[in-house]
Amino acid sequence: MADERAERIADFIEPLRVPPGTKVHLAEDFDPGYKTAGARKNKEGVELLRNGIELLSEYQQRLAAQDTYGVLMCLQALDAAGKDGTIRHVMSGVNPQGVRVTSFKVPSAEELDHDYLWRYNRHLPGRGEIGIFNRSHYEEVLVVRVHPENLHRQKLPEAARRGDVWERRYREINDWERYLTDNGFRVVKMFLNMSKEEQRIRFLKRIDVPERNWKFSPADARERARWDDYQRVFSEMLSATSTRWAPWYVIPADHKWFARVCAAAVLAHTLIGIDPRYPQVSDETRHELAVVKRELEHEAPKGAAADPYAASVSSGGSGKKG
Ligand code: ATP
Ligand code: MG
Repeated sequence: MADERAERIADFIEPLRVPPGTKVHLAEDFDPGYKTAGARKNKEGVELLRNGIELLSEYQQRLAAQDTYGVLMCLQALDAAGKDGTIRHVMSGVNPQGVRVTSFKVPSAEELDHDYLWRYNRHLPGRGEIGIFNRSHYEEVLVVRVHPENLHRQKLPEAARRGDVWERRYREINDWERYLTDNGFRVVKMFLNMSKEEQRIRFLKRIDVPERNWKFSPADARERARWDDYQRVFSEMLSATSTRWAPWYVIPADHKWFARVCAAAVLAHTLIGIDPRYPQVSDETRHELAVVKRELEHEAPKGAAADPYAASVSSGGSGKKG
């Protein structure tokens, strides 16, 4: 049953994965409006998402208990593609203590005083944790590339600005992710792929609905004007940095509900791959537990069951109170 579930999820996300070594042309290879046959309607989407969230919750508990692996989920997208909503929905069932979300904005003066991966390193998840990067180190080959003045602000030495900066950064990023993977931290990368028309519609909504005005800034419209440049750098980034150890998933984002189902499935697939287990206690510890159990049973007040939990389980109850 569990294997069947794992297989279904793997099949579901297969069309979203960028096979390592392939050359991506976003506009031709990935349809932002894509939905699979099994998930046509919003209602089915809600059901699928609920299943995904339950599964994430279960696996996150095991990940935390095992305390050996960590997961870093990176979300990249243009404005209004739904990063915030995806995070909110996908993580809605997990224990907040096990999740850390970091949003990366324009780098601060302190951050610019270091190598470009420094600030991302500082926010990596620990073992047992799921870290979410809302925007990520990939901004370093996206916005920084589309607006080269960002690169100038990075105070790089002459040699680091020479030659093909982007090829070098792809390699450095791939190496960094491999290092993390080798050390027990899985890197899951999702690009929310929205169409230009869908962005136009969402921007207008942000302008038309007063409660959404705060979500819109004229800078977003300026970035939209560079749409084609972004499509190009996204395509190159996907081609160069989808690796065996950390492949990219292109999430169709024109239907928000479907994007959320996909994101939950990709994350679930990663956790299933890790297959975290609750730690087993040693024979010695089990023996100690038995001794303490007997002591606690002896402390039962008159008339009370020696072990109410064990009694309820053996009488067919769930063991849960109420
Ligand atoms: P939202 O608009 O949904 O609140 P956001 O992620 O767009 O979320 P903003 O504060 O609007 O957040 O924008 C952050 C800006 O920071 C983006 O325009 C992004 O391109 C920019 N940014 C992120 N990383 C870098 C970087 N390394 N160098 C330069 N700019 C960056
Ligand atoms: Mg923004």
